[in-house]
Amino acid sequence: MAVEQLDSSIKNSKNILLVSHINPDGDTLGSMCGMYSLIKDNYKKICDMVAVSKIPEVYKFLPNIDNVKNIGEMDLSREYDLVINLDVAAIDRCADAQILFDKAKCSVNIDHHETNNNYGKINIVEPFASATGEVLFRLCLDLKWKVSLDSAICLYSAIVTDTGCFKFSNTTPRTMEYSGKLLAYGIDPSDIYKKCYESSSKDMVLFQSYCINKAKFLNNDKIAYTIVYKRDLEKFNCNGEDFTDGLTEKLRAIVSTQIAFVVKELHSGSSKVSMRSKSIDIAQICAALGGGGHKFAAGALIKANPEKAVKMILNEIENRKLC
Ligand code: 5GP
Ligand code: MN
Repeated sequence: MAVEQLDSSIKNSKNILLVSHINPDGDTLGSMCGMYSLIKDNYKKICDMVAVSKIPEVYKFLPNIDNVKNIGEMDLSREYDLVINLDVAAIDRCADAQILFDKAKCSVNIDHHETNNNYGKINIVEPFASATGEVLFRLCLDLKWKVSLDSAICLYSAIVTDTGCFKFSNTTPRTMEYSGKLLAYGIDPSDIYKKCYESSSKDMVLFQSYCINKAKFLNNDKIAYTIVYKRDLEKFNCNGEDFTDGLTEKLRAIVSTQIAFVVKELHSGSSKVSMRSKSIDIAQICAALGGGGHKFAAGALIKANPEKAVKMILNEIENRKLC
């Protein structure tokens, strides 16, 4: 039903905007650029695309990423016929683009987060999908969309990054089936792997090893965390949002770790937490702190300094007797 509504709303719209989430990852950017190609190829329409924060360098290889505008360049008074959010778990995760989403004649929410509350006029939310890229490929099959190599590269990259190269528990038979079908369009999987995972800057690798080196371990090493201060980022010449990408996973990779988290000091005086677990449901912890996400990968923005944010997180874990 929602799928047919999406099809007719694309057909009936003259101007369309595609939106990605704050601190963009491979899934939101791959899904946005993938949707751009799919709409171009199947409806002969050119969409606008917007990023609400800096695009990490590693994703600059995605086809059509150069057409993405920063929110600062957008006219926020514009009324689009159709705005489509991709991988935006909660409406506040698209920052000022929310203004454009709310104003649009039709709004669509395409996502895969369990905590998504169906905030769009049309909602295509599949919590069992590994990535929003996987949801989009389901749309390709349902609506018999033509899939170009550009679209396939984008959707495959979205799935690869959100499944950690098919190793997270969100990887299902359907994930593999769709990824296999996407490969058949002529993608080079090794090239995408290198672009996503072997393209870190030297500064970033040295910075992350510093953060791991000063990590704290609690409850017989079941909890591992580290705090990233603004001054640390400056010391290592790190000014992008992406310097902490993959850091929480590295703390989770320790055999004893059950819950890992990274707390990043923000300019606003608030803190951003990125949390991972091996088998404990941490989406509930982050939801209690005002955020959300998936069972084993979640996050929140906490209005407190890093030390206070750490205390709040540890309290939530302790109150629930999680580990
Ligand atoms: P990351 O740690 O990579 O930033 O985020 C992990 C997961 O948690 C992602 O799926 C992301 O959508 C979700 N997440 C991260 N931060 C927030 C937040 O502030 N609010 C909500 N609702 N979800 C978040
Ligand atoms: Mn995602």
